[in-house]
Amino acid sequence: MNEPARDPRFDVLFERVRIGPIVAKNRFFQVPHCNGMGYRDASAHAEMRAVKAQGGWAVVCTEQAEIHHSSEITPYIEARIWDDQDIPALALVADRIHEHGALAGIELCYNGLSGLNLHSRVAPRAPSALPVISGHADPVQAREMTKRDIANVRRWHRQAVDRSLRAGYDLVYVYAAHGLSCMHHFLSPRYNLRSDEYGGSLPNRMRLLREILTDTVEEVAGRAATACRITLDELLGDGITRAEIEEVLGELGEIPDLWDFAMGTWEDDSVTSRFGAEGGQEQYVAGLKALTSKPVVGVGRFTSPDAMVRMVHQGILDFIGAARPSIADPYLPQKIEEGRLEDIRECIGCNICVTGDFTMSPIRCTQNPSMGEEWRRGWHPEVYRTRHADEKILVVGAGPAGLEAAMAAGKRGYEVVLVERSRRLGGRVAAEARLPGLAEWIRVLDYREGQIARMGNVEVYLESPMTADELPAYDFAHVAVATGSTWRRDGVGRRHTHPMRIGGLPILTPDDLMAGDRPAGSRVVIFDDDHFYMGGVLAELLAGEGYDVSIVTPQACISRWTVNTMDQHRIQARLMNLGVELRCNTTAEAIGDDGLELACTYTGSRSDLGAEAAVLVTARLPEDSLLTDLQTRRHEWPDRGLRSARAIGDALAPGTIAAAVWEGRRFAEEIENPSDDADTTPYRREVTQLAGRRPPS
Ligand code: ADP
Ligand code: SF4
Repeated sequence: MNEPARDPRFDVLFERVRIGPIVAKNRFFQVPHCNGMGYRDASAHAEMRAVKAQGGWAVVCTEQAEIHHSSEITPYIEARIWDDQDIPALALVADRIHEHGALAGIELCYNGLSGLNLHSRVAPRAPSALPVISGHADPVQAREMTKRDIANVRRWHRQAVDRSLRAGYDLVYVYAAHGLSCMHHFLSPRYNLRSDEYGGSLPNRMRLLREILTDTVEEVAGRAATACRITLDELLGDGITRAEIEEVLGELGEIPDLWDFAMGTWEDDSVTSRFGAEGGQEQYVAGLKALTSKPVVGVGRFTSPDAMVRMVHQGILDFIGAARPSIADPYLPQKIEEGRLEDIRECIGCNICVTGDFTMSPIRCTQNPSMGEEWRRGWHPEVYRTRHADEKILVVGAGPAGLEAAMAAGKRGYEVVLVERSRRLGGRVAAEARLPGLAEWIRVLDYREGQIARMGNVEVYLESPMTADELPAYDFAHVAVATGSTWRRDGVGRRHTHPMRIGGLPILTPDDLMAGDRPAGSRVVIFDDDHFYMGGVLAELLAGEGYDVSIVTPQACISRWTVNTMDQHRIQARLMNLGVELRCNTTAEAIGDDGLELACTYTGSRSDLGAEAAVLVTARLPEDSLLTDLQTRRHEWPDRGLRSARAIGDALAPGTIAAAVWEGRRFAEEIENPSDDADTTPYRREVTQLAGRRPPS
């Protein structure tokens, strides 16, 4: 066995740390994070956590586990520990974590003001009778908890602790963070309007947290550790402040065995790289460790081991907490341990992982296409199935889909040739990473370029446009057409499914702007019918360069879909601060010679908006002509040994970078047996059993 080639300056990260009655083998701590699988996809959830334990994390936690049906966050899919029926699914997670030598943590949660109770239908209970906090302004109000309710919640929490122990967990969290938990709402002067001994002064507002922490410590009775995840500052003006949290730590600091520090709401804690750098929480966390003798964990999208070491040496953190870095690279600790820093798949801070939770679908990750597919499809972030035959693979186009396909096929042991028309690798990632705030996205290229460079069986040719005429000269068995897509110039998108009426006004597309073209005048109107980040980021680009910019969108807000990446509010604020005129609920009906004809999406009332150029951010056209040409020459395939040709990524169907990377991996996984025409579901899924009925024998 090879000795670990760890750089001694990272030794501190591999020290053992005691957490009350348990000992963590190193300082890498996967803090609780949502994954859109929870109670519904238990086996997939368990395997996802298991792979992280394999990758060297000392502690691996579940997402929030709802402790009782009277507080649940349907439609979101989290873990549940409502009663004993939930124990087997949670025990499976703990068992799989233990099999790989990590400690298993569970985050118990009574959601209070953040649970709509759409499943249980009972009235939510919270410190005060306020509308439930929800992204959709649901017509649900909580009722103020009585003393009896408080006693009930304490008892239910104890019962959940007991079930957690029976499920095998080593670390039990009391959750008081992210605005998602009743303990947080009790602490917060914004949400706690009570006049009894649980409201008003800070000692009163922290009373329930103190009681539940004490109950938990008592209930675990030395058989597991107790953790508390707490919000450091609600960043709201009228909410919890950092000064108050210092007081809380002064009072409660010694009760749990570990403190986990989080910022404000989840949006404040998991900021996209467009709006926050690595280690962004430091200013809030620094100094708190001194207020407790217990170990502390904090996050900061840490991917740099030097930054992690500094956190420990400067006494800011004891554990390097990670959600996103552990999603992008479940083997981050092991790679640092083995001195393989160049193999780290660094998180790009895009928050596509968050969109899984928000869309109630299994987690996905731009950098790590195996995330969520560990059990479903048997994909692994580091281990690849050996090739099925000595065949040569051609991948055309080196965007995210082509890079991933070439790398993954190469890791399977195939001989791979990757050809790229332009003089640079990266496709859309290389172009988009030059837009304001998106620089970290270049890591999608960096990781794959680095891996491919070290593989003897993958050859890369730049400035090599491939045509169907050339292909017969080679002996490739399988071809992946990863030639991407182009933004449409004719206005076709969601609003217009046929080309728009377009006059003489100069039209630019995102491709033009990314290629360096700029409008001739100074007055530009962007029509955003795409609704992800592109329209907003181009408005930011042009406004930053001094253009007079308006952005027109049929949606009620700018970059509407970015609510799922949790940065819509920041994008809109940034554009407003840059002086961009925002025209929401408005469509561009036609483009004339000196402006756009607009219509209100509700009333249809028309107006004109003058412009010297229009930027159309609507839909994209797949660039799949190579595949079409190859298919027309199918008769030549047998003589040439060509067995399959497929479009992948944006050339198949334009989508997210994450979808392109995933398709690249799927191509490599399914080279010998593509699942596109399969009659049966090509991945495993959990099927709910009918209560009280046995399957036919
Ligand atoms: P995806 O997101 O699907 O990976 P991209 O648009 O990012 O797609 O990348 C497509 C890449 O394919 C671009 O770098 C483009 O230059 C390259 N490309 C397109 N057509 C050809 C071709 N015929 N031969 C080689 N490379 C091509
Ligand atoms: Fe990081 Fe994006 Fe992956 Fe989330 S989806 S872990 S933000 S790379």
